[in-house]
Amino acid sequence: MSPVSVSPDLVKNTSPLVAGVWSTTSQAFDVHNPFTGELLTQVHSASGLDARDALSAAHAISPSWGHTAPEQRSALLSTLHQLTLENSERLARIITLENGKPLTEARAEVEYAAGYLSWFAHEALRIPGDARRAPGGHRQLVFHEPVGPSLLITPWNFPLAMATRKVAPAFAAGNVVLIKPSSATPLTILAWAELVIAALDSLDLPRSIVSILPSDNAAALSTALLSDARLRKLSFTGSTSVGAKLLAQAAPIVARTSMELGGNAPFIVHDDADLDAAVTGAMAAKMRASGQTCVAANRFYVHHEVAHEFMRKLAIALDSLTAGDPLIEGTTLGPLINANEAQRIESLVSQALHTGDAHLFYERSLNPNLPASFSPPRILSRVKHHASIVTDEIFGPVIPVMTYTDINECITQANDTPYGLVAYAYTNSQSIAWRLVDGLEAGMVAINRGVISDPTAPFGGIKSSGLGREGGHEGIMDYLTTKYVAWQ
Ligand code: NAD
Repeated sequence: MSPVSVSPDLVKNTSPLVAGVWSTTSQAFDVHNPFTGELLTQVHSASGLDARDALSAAHAISPSWGHTAPEQRSALLSTLHQLTLENSERLARIITLENGKPLTEARAEVEYAAGYLSWFAHEALRIPGDARRAPGGHRQLVFHEPVGPSLLITPWNFPLAMATRKVAPAFAAGNVVLIKPSSATPLTILAWAELVIAALDSLDLPRSIVSILPSDNAAALSTALLSDARLRKLSFTGSTSVGAKLLAQAAPIVARTSMELGGNAPFIVHDDADLDAAVTGAMAAKMRASGQTCVAANRFYVHHEVAHEFMRKLAIALDSLTAGDPLIEGTTLGPLINANEAQRIESLVSQALHTGDAHLFYERSLNPNLPASFSPPRILSRVKHHASIVTDEIFGPVIPVMTYTDINECITQANDTPYGLVAYAYTNSQSIAWRLVDGLEAGMVAINRGVISDPTAPFGGIKSSGLGREGGHEGIMDYLTTKYVAWQ
């Protein structure tokens, strides 16, 4: 085994946290640095027994935790917000080490992740209710109560933010959480768990409201938990294929589900758009995390009059990226999560080029000494609408560009996908913008903006991109059930 290269100062605990207690299990799996390929450390896998113990403890503490005063839950989230920001440099370094995104992006992720803690610290105090007279004259009271023990499964592309986006509303609503991070990136959340424990201790709140269950056998863990009716909620962020399996698994216990799944975002540039702004937006929407975001622009529809100019300007912007070690300040293009992913993207591109489904307009040359986990930014032109490079979620720095003449034809093509997470459009015409807002089938639409995620707004998709919303006023409702009282 190669030497472990992550220092204990960075991540102290590398075993599951079961109901607030660090457990010791024998099975361990490796976590690698996507840039160097080195072994960062081994993490102990949560066993089926750990999962059951975590759920039993969650079930036991749920009634009392669910009845804590909202201001206590709010104080917990405010304290966690502060601790997360105080530890932002350490957390950002861990994100970069295990995920490979450049340090500046990792710092931005920590700030974004902390934003959910702050937003839901306030939402905890604003859980709505209703009181009214029924048409027949009696009283009707409507309360919202915590849904119960919640399993939160997160992906590797935002190791911290995808967790706080779930933990913050879950705690705000009064739920106990069991978090299953991706086996590729479990270290960030294990380090953050230390802050959760510190926040709970400082407020004299029970440690058993949190469990962290890293595992390299996610299916076994989720099967064990989803067959136990004491689990009342599953919130999953990840691929549509795994999400669909989990929905089926959750059906027998009729658990509440929230699903943040894959996307295939169109990015539309109309002929009246400010092309420089569109290029800036495209870089933000496409190139963050080297294209590995669910909201990444996946297909570009550009009006034929401006397509060449848009691609020319975009190529200049791609030329300005600095590829290299993501821990070095100034790096703006890091590796993909592993070399297999770079290989998958290579196959997708060569298939499109060889079948004549696309032409290579631009390829950024990268230093040949960079590791195999790097994928070169590319622009593909004259792309056919039904090519795999358009219908698949690319999850890498490839930009397929199609042209259109008529905006209605463009909207039809943009909607011709099973996905519906987000759509981006650039236009200076109010009427075209409204036509796009009304016509695009997506849970989120960005007009003249390349960044849409915001803790204060409802994030989520329609169609195969998911169910439920995270963030905004809507985010807490996914963690609450409704109780109606009729009172004569
Ligand atoms: P993934 O579906 O492979 O894994 C996500 C999580 O599910 C991981 O923790 C993984 O260990 C776990 N998992 C895998 N198989 C499982 C099973 N059979 N049972 C239970 N858990 C299982 O996704 P990924 O590769 O980690 O992340 C990339 C995907 O996530 C992309 O499709 C991306 O679009 C999506 N994503 C969506 C959002 C969103 O908000 N909509 C955000 C980020 C990522």
